[in-house]
Amino acid sequence: MDDTILETKGLTKEFRGFVAVNGVDLRIKRGEIHALIGPNGAGKTTCFNLLTKFLSPTSGSIKFNGVDITGERPSQIARRGIIRSFQISAVFPHLTVLENVRIGLQRKTGLSFHFWKSDRQLASLNEPARALLDQVDLGAFANETTVNLPYGRKRALEIATTLAMEPELMLLDEPTQGMGHEDVDRVTQLIKRVSAGRTILMVEHNMNVVSSIADTITVLARGSVLAEGSYAEVSRHPAVMQAYMGT
Ligand code: ADP
Repeated sequence: MDDTILETKGLTKEFRGFVAVNGVDLRIKRGEIHALIGPNGAGKTTCFNLLTKFLSPTSGSIKFNGVDITGERPSQIARRGIIRSFQISAVFPHLTVLENVRIGLQRKTGLSFHFWKSDRQLASLNEPARALLDQVDLGAFANETTVNLPYGRKRALEIATTLAMEPELMLLDEPTQGMGHEDVDRVTQLIKRVSAGRTILMVEHNMNVVSSIADTITVLARGSVLAEGSYAEVSRHPAVMQAYMGT
């Protein structure tokens, strides 16, 4: 099978004449962790919004698994397995951690939300929900009320609820933002762990995280791709050093 899972050609987004994303050709390889980096305003978030059809591109195309998905609706794109963490991370603060993951599983399995759903049906989701929590080191927090979780653990729960949707391509928007060292290390390791068997595209500012887990890095600046390659390649790219690293 072709090793390209997602490919954009000439992806462009203009906001009333301002070009936020300018002819971006992006190729994400199946099974890799791909980081999108660049200074503030580079167009990273807009790219994510285009890939999930939160925004429609002004021009250009998006192919997923060889199929042109440019004209599809967000729900169709999610059904194909492109899942962005924040879209479904609206975790319910007053439910337990386990209940939140179960809701993610309910969405995936199509088990409806009727409140007279039998306890037995809901209980059938406990085991897969616990397995997901174990994957993100939240097993011990299963019965905690979500609002009481420390911040780093809440972000891990977002990843678990994303995993519940069985993403083939998982989009993570700054997964370590605002965390202390310990949480950054933990979340970095868990991203590495859950990347097995799936593809991850992440926007990430922390260069330690990027250098330790990203297989490929795309550097955006002013809406255009400045460089692409491994960390070693992009970090010594003259245009990147000048425009991004500030040297
Ligand atoms: P990044 O995520 O890399 O910081 P963004 O994609 O958020 O960058 O923004 C890229 C540029 O597009 C910025 O200059 C931003 O102000 C502009 N932009 C983003 N969204 C809109 C919008 N809805 N309307 C007008 N300009 C926007």
